[in-house]
Amino acid sequence: MHTDPAAAAALPDGRVLSADGGLPPALGDDFAQAVAAVAALLQEDVMERTWRVWPVCAADGVGLHPVVREGDAVWWCAAGGGHEAAVVGGLGAGGRQA
Ligand SMILES: [Zn+2]
Repeated sequence: MHTDPAAAAALPDGRVLSADGGLPPALGDDFAQAVAAVAALLQEDVMERTWRVWPVCAADGVGLHPVVREGDAVWWCAAGGGHEAAVVGGLGAGGRQA
């Protein structure tokens, strides 16, 4: 039985990541919360497919988690008291640095 994915993202190499399971209805209309939730779903999909932790903090080598900080969805690193590694969608793009 096939169900439509709850979230999907196209990679530069043509692969499409998708995630089932749905988004929590408690997200309401908060855009940043929705972005973080989609990032978490896709992160799960990537890790299930690759059996590797993704994404990883370039500075600390530990896994990142999507959270909302100051109204933006960001990849958060828990090492060293915690810091923002990048905005969601900005990893590896030379985007906002913590
Ligand atoms: Zn870090």
